Amino acid sequence: MQTINTIFVLSKIKYMTVKRFGKPSSSLLSQKVSFFEENEHFVKNQQKIGTVYVQQPKRTCCKNCATPFGSESDFLKDNINYILCEKCNHLNGLHEDTTEFCEALYTKDTGKEYAKNYNSDSVNDYNYRTSSIYLPKAEFLYTTLVSSNVNPNHLNYLDLGAGSGYFVAALKKMGLENVRGSEVSKTQVALGNAMIGEEVIDVHEMDKTNEVLRNTKSEVVSMIGVLEHLQYPREALAEISKNKNIKYLYISVPTFSLSVFLELLSPNVFHRQLSCGHTHLYTDKSLQYMAEEFGFKSLGEWWFGTDIVDLFRHVRVALEQNNSAQNIIGSWSENFIPLIDAMQLELDKKQMSSEVHLLLERK
Ligand SMILES: [Zn+2]
Repeated sequence: MQTINTIFVLSKIKYMTVKRFGKPSSSLLSQKVSFFEENEHFVKNQQKIGTVYVQQPKRTCCKNCATPFGSESDFLKDNINYILCEKCNHLNGLHEDTTEFCEALYTKDTGKEYAKNYNSDSVNDYNYRTSSIYLPKAEFLYTTLVSSNVNPNHLNYLDLGAGSGYFVAALKKMGLENVRGSEVSKTQVALGNAMIGEEVIDVHEMDKTNEVLRNTKSEVVSMIGVLEHLQYPREALAEISKNKNIKYLYISVPTFSLSVFLELLSPNVFHRQLSCGHTHLYTDKSLQYMAEEFGFKSLGEWWFGTDIVDLFRHVRVALEQNNSAQNIIGSWSENFIPLIDAMQLELDKKQMSSEVHLLLERK
């Protein structure tokens, strides 16, 4: 499933790192219509959660490397202060994501509130989302292992924070057999198992994440959009580091990118990148620091993002908020949408995109 925007670079430094850049935005544009149509609802929710966040105790150490902060704040956005770690270059919000904060975000009504963003109404929707969004993620994992002379079919997989099981479903679609998921939301687990048609996802309590990692026999652990939401990512990474069964760690994390700067300009447009559950963001450097500290090295990196979709969205929503004429809104969409992928690819190639998929291998 190689896309037109895909470029592979093999660099021979100490080991081979597969690098891929870019991903077409069409499926994202069609699946995230609510961010355009229900902007006001998302902004209100963002501000409500932000109000809870700033009431939490001050974060004093970097979420990624645990080094105490050297200064007060580097910038303020939506009443929240942020700081870049001097040691590892990780971007931190200056309050802790306490249990109270996490529970308000993720487990209220056994996950129903959070699941709203990701729910599927039908098997068709579920399968479409699996194929358009999650299959490329599974394919990147698969092909990167193959290019490292590893047979993916001989490995066991655990998807931690499996949500409604989209990535588990995608791995199974790739023909992989030994795949399981684990997730805290009972609602999402029930949906995922029903959609996949077998009991492949287990429920675990939020405070049992480390136990799941400690006990797994799987050689590949994936956490797609999960690490940034963990209350104690360093503890989870330490468990992974200690569990020698785990040979590969596949993660997708949000990064400090252009989208954050757009958010600084637009207080009335939903902040998709740095708000709500995203209280800190990774950078190329902070990820390298993390891999090194926990005894892993990068086997493959896929940089792509939604920065330019965000740029499109910020302007489009602003035009609507200003009661602009329909022909102006129409011409903005008509002229800008065809540029999105090419513009984003330039950011991706500089590793400045809003997301990265990393396949790490134990050293
Ligand atoms: Zn740090």
